[in-house]
Amino acid sequence: MEKIKMTTPLVEMDGDEMTRILWKMIKDNLLLPYIDLKTEYYDLGLENRNITNDQVTIDSANATKKYGVAVKCATITPNAARMSEYKLKEMWKSPNGTIRAMLDGTVFRSPIVVKGIEPCVKNWKKPITLARHAYGDVYKNTEMIIDKPGKAELVYTTEDGVEKRELIHEFSGAGIIQGMHNTDDSIESFARSCFNYALEIKQDLWFATKDTISKKYDHTFKDIFQEIYDKEYAEKFKEYGIEYFYTLIDDAVARVMKAEGGFIWACKNYDGDVMSDMVSSAFGSLAMMTSVLVSPEGYYEYEAAHGTVQRHYYKYLKGEETSTNSVATIFAWTGALRKRGELDGNIELIQFANKLEKATIDTIESGKMTKDLALITSISNPTVLNSEEFIKEIAKIL
Ligand code: NAP
Ligand code: MG
Repeated sequence: MEKIKMTTPLVEMDGDEMTRILWKMIKDNLLLPYIDLKTEYYDLGLENRNITNDQVTIDSANATKKYGVAVKCATITPNAARMSEYKLKEMWKSPNGTIRAMLDGTVFRSPIVVKGIEPCVKNWKKPITLARHAYGDVYKNTEMIIDKPGKAELVYTTEDGVEKRELIHEFSGAGIIQGMHNTDDSIESFARSCFNYALEIKQDLWFATKDTISKKYDHTFKDIFQEIYDKEYAEKFKEYGIEYFYTLIDDAVARVMKAEGGFIWACKNYDGDVMSDMVSSAFGSLAMMTSVLVSPEGYYEYEAAHGTVQRHYYKYLKGEETSTNSVATIFAWTGALRKRGELDGNIELIQFANKLEKATIDTIESGKMTKDLALITSISNPTVLNSEEFIKEIAKIL
């Protein structure tokens, strides 16, 4: 069989621990036999980040800006324990954080829906994709404990020294205060990433805030989304037969629970943090959740939503058998290959990505799966495969 040719390289970001092992198995068994794989390889494994003083992460993000599409393996975000484990020169920042800041992107997470792994919410039939604004609000707050009576004010001083003040509260006793911010630039990028992604996957976009209570802060989010939508996207949405829909956050939560799925739910930073955990656990498993970072300029970085599965890696190092789910990592590859195919007009590459996804889903639906899924499936007597057997089983069907 002649291998599928690629014209433009994918940016390949290798990673750590068990997902680094799966990465190689996926390439060897599911990609290299069929595709003349062209990638520009960046080793974001912690060892190499330490050797290069994390320059490799910056280089990989710049390469993503150059080529437009990247696929990333899960990576370790160093903490104190990793400092000694890997003898690090510094506690390097999270690669995802660095890449997200450089691409100014929004992360979209969606579950991979398979028969036999049913969501807890029984009317959810199609994936719900969650888009979380990744800048500001309570995540960049300033807080103060108030311990005696007094007056709290919000003070803003312009560069030329003009002051603006608003009373927060006259305290008659102890209490607490908090200040937070966001910027129009960041909200605009978030809005454009969401509108672009909705067009990309041809799904409705929902956005919700608490603008009835927060008449300036949240209302600004609502207004910026609406202005950008009306000016830049309304016509395209109409043409694509999709809808942009704004509602109050309480109403959105109630509607999501009753909906059947198949839409994107854009959330402010805190709402997105909380709701993405709710949506992903209700859909079944973190190992069945994909994640794509979309920049307002239209750069894409695909990855799995889970981490490096450290506990399984230590078993693997001891020579023990592991049953680690590779589905989300496979879908990171198929997402990136399909996008590359679309940008390059490479039909064969798009078809390959679709077939690999179907083979993966068919494998699970035929009752062959890794242990994490076997524990939650409604299929009776599933066959539990180890990490490599599962990938080889997909290869057979493919
Ligand atoms: P994790 O890798 O997501 O794994 C946590 C647990 O979830 C695992 O021990 C396993 O449960 C289960 N699990 C997750 N993915 C699985 C899969 N594919 N197949 C089967 N089970 C799976 O989180 P962690 O162990 O807390 O973090 C490990 C490292 O990942 C950390 O250094 C962290 O910094 C990093 N991390 C990276 C990213 C990223 O690059 N995007 C995201 C999150 C975390 P059982 O042990 O019960 O089987
Ligand atoms: Mg959370």
